[in-house]
Amino acid sequence: MIKADLTLIDHPLIQHKLTLMRDENTAAAVFRQLLREIAHLMAYEVLRDLPLDPVQITTPLETIQSPKLAGKKLCFISILRAGNGLLEGMLDLVPSARVGHVGLYRDPETLRPVEYYKKFPRALEDRLCIVVDPMLATGNSAVAAVQKVKGAGAKNIKFVCLLTAPEGVEVFAGAHPDVPIYTASIDRQLNDHGYILPGLGDAGDRIYGTK
Ligand code: URA
Repeated sequence: MIKADLTLIDHPLIQHKLTLMRDENTAAAVFRQLLREIAHLMAYEVLRDLPLDPVQITTPLETIQSPKLAGKKLCFISILRAGNGLLEGMLDLVPSARVGHVGLYRDPETLRPVEYYKKFPRALEDRLCIVVDPMLATGNSAVAAVQKVKGAGAKNIKFVCLLTAPEGVEVFAGAHPDVPIYTASIDRQLNDHGYILPGLGDAGDRIYGTK
């Protein structure tokens, strides 16, 4: 068993909202909103070590040195299409972040990822890159997406998802032991179609109401 660098963010508010998301009767609009709110709560933990630089400002009363985010703007990279659900919440907190996208679909036969789109901002090597996808299931898409982000020069990468399965964690940690995983839950297992059990179904379909 590979030792994964995994942080479980299981604040009671996240657990509560996740339960609502798992419920098959939760409507797409509510599901989307809950995902956005969980992204806020997760971002708080994922971004807690962002570097700060002091800048001089003047309040109505005096001039002080006060901290602001340092360095190049960080970059969120969404694995399409479900990644966009998490991305929106992250962007609420860091609206100035750059955004990249990787389009991967799962071949239903092989469960292997096939790329159909890729667009990244410049200078990934100077940015913290946060790759987001709600579901770390087989791990194949996440591994491929992070490979592309590394291929574009990124050196400081984190992976954020809502749910993981042990199988996906093992695959991801084996391929990218240098990339920490942040998740809100480690579910039981995958089914024969690569879906997470108990899971929440197809995240893309649940976000966009396409089923
Ligand atoms: N992708 C999903 O959307 N759901 C799963 O359970 C697995 C992969």
